[in-house]
Amino acid sequence: MFNEIAESPHCECGVFGVYAPGEDVSRLAYFGIFALQHRGQESAGIAVSDRTRFQLHRDMGLVSQVFDEDTLSAMSGDLAIAHNRYSTTGSSTLCNAQPVVEEGPSGPVALGHNGNLINATILRRKLEEAETQFNSTIDSEVMVKLLAQNLSGEGVDNLQSAAAAMMYECNGAYSLVGMTRDKLFGIRDPFGFRPLCIGRLNSKGYVLASETCALNVVGAQFVREVLPGEVVVIDEFGLHESAPQEADSHGFCIFEFVYLARPDSNIFGRSVHQTRRRMGNLLAQEHPVEADMVIPVPDTGTSAAIGYAEASRIPYGEGLIKNRYIHRTFIQPDQRMRDLGVKMKLSPLRESLAGKRIVVVEDSIVRGTTTRNIIGLLRDAGAREVHFRISSPPYAWPCFYGIDTGTRDELIAGARSVEEIGEFIDADSLGYLSLENLTKAVDLPKKHLCRACFDGKYPIPIPKHIQMDKYALEK
Ligand code: SF4
Repeated sequence: MFNEIAESPHCECGVFGVYAPGEDVSRLAYFGIFALQHRGQESAGIAVSDRTRFQLHRDMGLVSQVFDEDTLSAMSGDLAIAHNRYSTTGSSTLCNAQPVVEEGPSGPVALGHNGNLINATILRRKLEEAETQFNSTIDSEVMVKLLAQNLSGEGVDNLQSAAAAMMYECNGAYSLVGMTRDKLFGIRDPFGFRPLCIGRLNSKGYVLASETCALNVVGAQFVREVLPGEVVVIDEFGLHESAPQEADSHGFCIFEFVYLARPDSNIFGRSVHQTRRRMGNLLAQEHPVEADMVIPVPDTGTSAAIGYAEASRIPYGEGLIKNRYIHRTFIQPDQRMRDLGVKMKLSPLRESLAGKRIVVVEDSIVRGTTTRNIIGLLRDAGAREVHFRISSPPYAWPCFYGIDTGTRDELIAGARSVEEIGEFIDADSLGYLSLENLTKAVDLPKKHLCRACFDGKYPIPIPKHIQMDKYALEK
């Protein structure tokens, strides 16, 4: 695994669904998950239904590696769902790739899941005691089995009741796209941790997607988000809505705005780019510094760096060029490649940097070694001073709702003060955006946000055995 991949938080998944009889649904699904590639680079899959049978193709790798013309041409139908994945629950193997498909008493059900269940082990044990066989180690298979088992007919009502029964049992984060033989559906957990939106495709079709950037790429018009706790079903009669579960508060993931979502997406009713710009504005007010140029760590630091430059009136410039072809590969890097580390990903622009005082804007620091390497790169290229500014608070608590950041021990802010982190990364100064200002930039009520990786207050309590077992939350 490359250094940069190991040190970034891993978004769990991107999901996409399309209902469009007469259209090339497998190709639309391909373009949909291609646009969502940033949400998961480990495996990709598409399931297609022609109303009588399912076709499924999934494999390890990027969307463009898993699918080619021949594969897509062989998958024709009226509706499709698609998924790309980075693992948190379960290991990285083909059997854990999605969509997952289950044959139930009322026919097959396919599911693509973004999120993470915190009671998956208990649910799985109960199903195994009832002699249910599993083919993978992922929580999404638990969900598809519950859905398929609860489905007692092929009507919209049957599907909505089965979804409600599954939601009653499942605890955690889930934005789901799924399909039966002739229906596409979307489900979002009552906290709404992960985004999921609905788009209109021409006059007769619909799409569902993790982010609006996937609607744009297939030419769909944004309709609205699937509401927290809601089930939507799409069939030949159109969109069937159901009353979402009532809740006083939600848990929209604030880190989607900081890092996970694409800047050209709108999530939770907000533009990601504009929100990051506001983070940069507030960061400049909170941590001003005298400098000659503001540069981003590309690409996720770009919008906030623009915002910092605007508010500070320090010129914005390019100082680091990203190798746009670096992704997770099947080739295990050898030690020499590991040593190259950040140089595989970023190159400094010496002409822009030499002799200058630089403000570098980054979205977050997870473990710190990449940041230290970036600062080394800038100093080697002649930067006179390097001031690091982070457009979020210290990332100090692990996520249990679908983002893989490792254990609390592995998070640099879990164990060190800001001053100690500044020394470790060897910055001339270091400043983080406060949680108060991050929330102000996002402009959503605090009670509707999950901010647990910054303040340790988890909207759904995390069972002790999960804390101790996987993440060593308490030291
Ligand atoms: S803990 Fe952090 S990354 Fe996880 S859902 Fe909450 S805000 Fe998002």
